[in-house]
Amino acid sequence: MRPEILYPLFADISTIKGVGERAHKLLSNLVGGNKIVDMLWHLPSNIIDRTYSPKLANAIPGRICTIVAKVVEHIPAKNSRQPYKVVVEDGTEQLILIFFKVYAESIAKALPVGQTRVISGKLESFNGQLQMAHPDYIVRPQEIEKVLKKETVYPLTAGISNKVMGRFMEQALARIPNLPEWQDKNFLQQQKWGSFNDALLAAHSPVFASDLESFAKERCRLAYDELLANQLALAIVRQRVKKQAGRNLCGNGALRKKILDKLPFNLTDAQQKVLSEIYAEQQQPYRMLRLLQGDVGSGKTIVALLAMLSAVECGAQAAIMAPTEILAKQHLETIAPLCEDIGIKAELLTGKTKGKYRKQILEDLQNGKINIAIGTHALFQDDVKFADLGFVVVDEQHRFGVHQRMLLSEKGNKADILVMTATPIPRTLVLTAYGDMEYSKIDQVPEGRKPVDTRVLPLGKLPEVVAGLQRKIACGCRAYWVCPLVEESEKSDLAAAEERFAALQKIFGDEVGLVHGKMKEKDKDAVMEKFKKGEYKLLVATTVIEVGVNVPEATVMIIEHAERFGLAQLHQLRGRIKRGFEASTCMLMYSPPLSETATERLNIMKNSEDGFLIAEKDLELRGGGEILGTRQSGFADFRIADLEVHKNLLQIANKDAKMILEMDPKLETTRGMALRTLLYLFEKEDTVRNYRS
Ligand code: ADP
Ligand code: MG
Repeated sequence: MRPEILYPLFADISTIKGVGERAHKLLSNLVGGNKIVDMLWHLPSNIIDRTYSPKLANAIPGRICTIVAKVVEHIPAKNSRQPYKVVVEDGTEQLILIFFKVYAESIAKALPVGQTRVISGKLESFNGQLQMAHPDYIVRPQEIEKVLKKETVYPLTAGISNKVMGRFMEQALARIPNLPEWQDKNFLQQQKWGSFNDALLAAHSPVFASDLESFAKERCRLAYDELLANQLALAIVRQRVKKQAGRNLCGNGALRKKILDKLPFNLTDAQQKVLSEIYAEQQQPYRMLRLLQGDVGSGKTIVALLAMLSAVECGAQAAIMAPTEILAKQHLETIAPLCEDIGIKAELLTGKTKGKYRKQILEDLQNGKINIAIGTHALFQDDVKFADLGFVVVDEQHRFGVHQRMLLSEKGNKADILVMTATPIPRTLVLTAYGDMEYSKIDQVPEGRKPVDTRVLPLGKLPEVVAGLQRKIACGCRAYWVCPLVEESEKSDLAAAEERFAALQKIFGDEVGLVHGKMKEKDKDAVMEKFKKGEYKLLVATTVIEVGVNVPEATVMIIEHAERFGLAQLHQLRGRIKRGFEASTCMLMYSPPLSETATERLNIMKNSEDGFLIAEKDLELRGGGEILGTRQSGFADFRIADLEVHKNLLQIANKDAKMILEMDPKLETTRGMALRTLLYLFEKEDTVRNYRS
């Protein structure tokens, strides 16, 4: 249960005076939530200094000025296109105030002729004439103090002005309760940080431009609060898993030996290294929760299979869960034949598995006839019961939410969990997404792979590219043509792909196929099958091919509007043509002009094939939130913390979290109770719910 003290912060923003239905929608979109607390994380982006109050003769045009002047005359607009003008002067110079599309009456009322007014806004000069369009403030002289100050500016959205935002924010800030201190007093002193309340209020009333930076003292304190909440939550989950007794699921090696004897290749050193890490942990008396990272093509599947077999040797069942149907099938195609040879039963279960067939599979899972289950999240629906699930592999994890991860760990009988990802995750992000999850990395691809020749070309070169493609295809190559990601909607994605397909059909006839996300699974598979068999030589695709397809003969890839893709995604895509041992070519086509960052990003792709390096660079260029997409990615996306700036704070928070749980595993001390509040404040209630209050 959320502590009562936080209630005011979790009230809906409609409780703010002035927030009606329309403002509610705008505001919640803007601040990324509909609670008061969401507003508090919406920090100012600028300051307007209205303390500059010169005489007009000395005023510097281009600056925000607060002018005290007498109203001389009104010049009403002659027609609706012309502005309404008001002339004022302060004894040194004249100033013309300009208003478009405003009621003459309201101007007359605000600026009575002969009276003095305080006017604040941006001063400009046209042909030596001082002007001010739509002043931000017009008040009576006795109210000058209201204007003459530094004004906080928030990131805004159409329909909410800064003035309105300021009024809303003032109310939101007034709701902050007096929260208990959850940070260590000595640490606060050492960092010269004030209390959470002081930091939050100060962050909302910046005085200097430097106060707006991520490295500002106040923002660091808040970032640390957020990072500690993140790390503590992860550490709690971790602690829970660790405490659960596990079982020794490392068998005698008989099945594994048979498989290894059959493989047409030797494992790489890297594969052997991670396997020995996994085997060692399988023998530990606690549950395993390990992340396996390996670049595209590094050979994770065989590692997963061997790890599963190790559990199967002990009589347990194993399961591998993929994020898509195609990927699950692909695993089946690799795993099932190998298993069959050694008398192990591997079966597929996805959302598409229906009727009698599904019933049979469910039965065989429950009676233990199936040793290895391969599937999508359908594996973890309520009616799926295992005889004795001991080992679970989650592939391409970043597509699953934390929730699913928890679900599947409950299915198993103290099951060990191996999470595999091909997305190279920079170290910093691993820490934020998994905390101290055990970590293995296949840092090597099998020998003999030729590097991909990556070229960056403007879309204007399309005819040449097509001509080159014709030559390659005539020589027996197969190629992917990846169509642009269109921002607005999936429909236009598809339209673009269909258009390109039609154009290419004119050239390549029935050797070109089209596959996209809106197709029925059956049709998709049929197209993929034809491409695999070589009936199609060219496959036009939307990004559905990103994960999963394995066609070793495909050695050419053309990516249209490569500048619209994330680097991680480009890397994944390009990985599709790195399967074979043939030299391969990837054309990144862009629409000029490219921004500096975009140029740099494409150059990174051109110059590197190291997924980790690419990911690090991408993080540098784009910031942590974007690299792996949205919230559902399962990676923490922070409200305040900025991983580039607060990297070192993350490390400290990681250690801090560990120490806290060592000394106070149930969060029962005074600080522990305060930390619970912190966890709720940053909405980590999933992890605290199980604690008794
Ligand atoms: P990923 O890590 O991208 O999932 P896969 O497991 O799909 O990679 O392996 C990619 C390809 O490399 C597969 O065709 C697989 O058979 C092959 N492979 C895996 N390990 C080795 C190895 N040690 N030597 C040669 N080829 C390998
Ligand atoms: Mg794979």
